Amino acid sequence: MTLFDSFKRLFGAKRNGDAEGLACEDALRLVHEFLDGELADVPHAQVEAHFEMCRRCYPHLHLERRFREAIQRACVKETASPELRSRVLQLVSEGRPDS
Ligand SMILES: [Zn+2]
Repeated sequence: MTLFDSFKRLFGAKRNGDAEGLACEDALRLVHEFLDGELADVPHAQVEAHFEMCRRCYPHLHLERRFREAIQRACVKETASPELRSRVLQLVSEGRPDS
């Protein structure tokens, strides 16, 4: 953490105990929208700053990121078997009205 970050944490903490003007419950509620890049009401930078400043919320973001990465890795490895693939293709071609 840089000195600037330390100052930001100090001054941010004065605002009703929030980091970067965002309450922890709001940051945690927005974690999915934040990771999806779909924040509607709160600027992305504000939520990002909260997670960077807040020791309480950062582990939640970190865990959610790791969880999503694990899901993605699992999904990438998941492919249809050759048998299933040919069966699906056969059914699709049989289902065509012009064939
Ligand atoms: Zn927090």
